[in-house]
Amino acid sequence: MTIMDKFYKLFSDDIGIDLGTATTLVYVKGQGIVTVEPSIVALNQKTGQVVAVGNDADKMIGRTPAHIVAIKPLVNGVVSNFEVTEEMLSYFIKQALKHSKKTFLRPRLVIGVPSDITNVERRAVRDAAKNSGAREVHIIEEPMSAALGIRLPVFDPVGSMLIDIGGGTTDIAVISLGGIVRSKNLHIAGERFNQDIIAYVRDEFKILLGEKTAEYAKTLIGSVYKQVEPLEATIRGRDLVTGLPREVVITDSDIREAIAPSIAIFIDAVKEVLESTPPEVISDIMHRGIVVVGGGARILGLKELLEKEIQIAIHLAEDPLTAVVRGTGVVLEDLDRYRDILIDNEDELPPR
Ligand code: ADP
Ligand code: MG
Repeated sequence: MTIMDKFYKLFSDDIGIDLGTATTLVYVKGQGIVTVEPSIVALNQKTGQVVAVGNDADKMIGRTPAHIVAIKPLVNGVVSNFEVTEEMLSYFIKQALKHSKKTFLRPRLVIGVPSDITNVERRAVRDAAKNSGAREVHIIEEPMSAALGIRLPVFDPVGSMLIDIGGGTTDIAVISLGGIVRSKNLHIAGERFNQDIIAYVRDEFKILLGEKTAEYAKTLIGSVYKQVEPLEATIRGRDLVTGLPREVVITDSDIREAIAPSIAIFIDAVKEVLESTPPEVISDIMHRGIVVVGGGARILGLKELLEKEIQIAIHLAEDPLTAVVRGTGVVLEDLDRYRDILIDNEDELPPR
């Protein structure tokens, strides 16, 4: 360790961020996860100013006056709005620094980004992080970070498969020898399921639901495989005929029907990745099973459905929402060891 390294270690923090499409999590080395908030920004369209970020912005969804909009800047896994993303990132870095004990020097950052992000978007995230006060920015692909977070043997000559079902995107990745061997990123994930539920309830019950209500029904009774006990939820929306509020009881089977077409696309994508994976690696995966992470891993019946469809053992990760950010923590423990799996520019590498 050089003198500079020691100096930085004493006076600067290492921060890991999972910049998810639905949730942003922040990790401070030595302290663990310090922030879990929705990736949402409330923007005043008249002034262009950010009114709120994270939890505060989330409370405003569906309740804002006309000139304030709640934006999910990463919802399709892409940085749809550079400035808003930058404001959001800067807010989360500030949150991290509140927990930091070493504010003397600017922090070092590892950020997990969706795997299908373009170079331009990646640069935008990097610039945003630098503008928000980071001294050094390292970018890691989320599937790789999740794999490290749940301690898969990513550097071994053995194939692992990981599925991350998030809000805006689902990542399906096969990892071996420190690299992503095969992967697929699809925009079918939690948000799409919510939209499916809204469309279904509109068509079947003639009721318009808000996004939050759809999300509530999904997390409460949503399943992808027939449940032993039927489940029900009472939800409220606007009757499309009378225009007045109305309550309706929906069941787990309604939700299964609503999301079935999206689930079919998801299953096909998993099969496609498996079909294009080299035989030796497939054999490892059949032997070791597939791990599922992300908030979407929590939907009831996922294990049963996937096992029936692909005939490979499925393991739902413990604490699936935090896998990616825990992975950034693993990287921060020993940056040199993980340098090869980070997406960095040469000019940003610290001296070796
Ligand atoms: P991202 O990494 O894209 O930010 P997350 O991993 O935080 O996404 O997952 C968020 C998604 O998980 C949301 O769409 C949310 O509705 C979904 N989710 C969380 N819990 C459940 C649950 N119990 N059942 C179904 N979906 C869930
Ligand atoms: Mg995620």
